[in-house]
Amino acid sequence: MSLNIVMIGPPGAGKGTQAERLTRAYGIPKISTGEILREAVSAQTPLGLQVGETIAAGSLVSDDIMIRVAEERLARPDVAAGVILDGFPRTVVQARALDAMMEGRGPIIPIVIVVPEDEIARRLVQRRVCADCGATYGAFGPTGAPDAGRCARCGGMLVQRKDDDDQVIRQRLHVFEEITAPLVEFYRTRPTFASIDGRQPPARVTEDLRAAVEAGMAVARNDGRGKKGRA
Ligand code: ADP
Repeated sequence: MSLNIVMIGPPGAGKGTQAERLTRAYGIPKISTGEILREAVSAQTPLGLQVGETIAAGSLVSDDIMIRVAEERLARPDVAAGVILDGFPRTVVQARALDAMMEGRGPIIPIVIVVPEDEIARRLVQRRVCADCGATYGAFGPTGAPDAGRCARCGGMLVQRKDDDDQVIRQRLHVFEEITAPLVEFYRTRPTFASIDGRQPPARVTEDLRAAVEAGMAVARNDGRGKKGRA
């Protein structure tokens, strides 16, 4: 049975950082659709040229494109034992498509990281990313940006993400509330669903996430034996 985790949360909730930690804890790859798109934009591939303006405006790339991106990535053999999805699905249409892609692979564990809007806005204006390797540095807690303004991993320059400017942040939060929040309702009734308080220190969020993953796996194992009932 594969371990398939879907991380949901507003921009700046810490999905990327936490997905990275789960990758290490469970030895399964993380797929960040935002990273895939940003790489395509900087490499100026046909996909990148198609989506560059949309990302810069803080809007969502179309479901058709995103479903194709996810399908291609999920067809690669490294995700056979499972995957951590960061940033996909972001719409109910994408979530339905993901269900179809995951058919026969094992259940999805959807986890939402909840953070209030004022905290999100504060985090995003302070966030920096490495121009070379894409590593993210928040100005909060132990993941804070190194003083030298250089990436601790590769020494690259730390810069602000183009879509982390005030106005684009507001647009992305609006998109999250309008389009992505209904995803939570889509997944809420699943026995593997969990919701976590993302205002806690990152290490506590990781603990809660791991507990949610363990609980989700236990439920999935029981379902696999045909026990559908739940308290
Ligand atoms: P965030 O910090 O907003 O969670 P991401 O790195 O996940 O940022 O995504 C950056 C941008 O890439 C989004 O604002 C959107 O334009 C695009 N994008 C990423 N994933 C998706 C998706 N699943 N559906 C539509 N657009 C997406």
